[in-house]
Amino acid sequence: MSAKKLIAANWKMNGSRALVEAVVQQLTYLSPDVDVLLCPPATLLPLFPASRHYALGAQNLSEHEQGAYTGELSASLISETGASYVLVGHSERRQYYGETDQLVCLKMQQAVSSALTPVLCIGETLAERQQENTEQVIAKQLAAVYASHPELLANSVIAYEPVWAIGTGESATPEQAQATHAFIRKQLAQYDAEAAAKVRILYGGSVNAANCNALFAQADIDGALVGGASLKPSEFMQICQSAKD
Ligand code: PEP
Repeated sequence: MSAKKLIAANWKMNGSRALVEAVVQQLTYLSPDVDVLLCPPATLLPLFPASRHYALGAQNLSEHEQGAYTGELSASLISETGASYVLVGHSERRQYYGETDQLVCLKMQQAVSSALTPVLCIGETLAERQQENTEQVIAKQLAAVYASHPELLANSVIAYEPVWAIGTGESATPEQAQATHAFIRKQLAQYDAEAAAKVRILYGGSVNAANCNALFAQADIDGALVGGASLKPSEFMQICQSAKD
């Protein structure tokens, strides 16, 4: 469990110059007791002024270092925008762009080798939960990265995002999320016990200003990855403020 919580915003393919300005303005009043990460579309990253109130991240990266990969962004190109984080393996990437566990592992390695902190997104679908396969699915997603590359864990953030809770308005209950977070930490301990105790495990899936307090009260919930509500500057700010210790 980490001392300071991390609240990450995933704007997905949304946002604008105006939203950048509005969010920057809101976060000026942020308490230093919480870490904030903003992941807008990559083209907006250079519009953010450097600030002690937030870090910046991309939503995806290429598994390649450089070369003839039209439309892709390498880890080093992302770094040059001022970003220091990158989301890896978001369920929308897995679902719509066919990202496999193997590809996710390559992207994790690229991120860390360019000093970007990857936020590894994992989570089960509704069918997998109904079949009581949540733990099995998560264990497989974690093993695909950390069994062969345990050294990546000390530089990672994990985001547990049940697919059925993303963008649906139906968050996992605090108890459901806590149980899975505790399982994730236990699984990670087999790869690097020291790093597992410290790694930040974020919950993502319909987090909003009304449900975040109960989630943040759970022992193994170290912050949130926020989609829809991160597009509303004052609600996002409220979520950040709720994460203060
Ligand atoms: C996400 O896209 O990572 C997410 C958690 O979205 P939402 O908060 O809208 O469910």
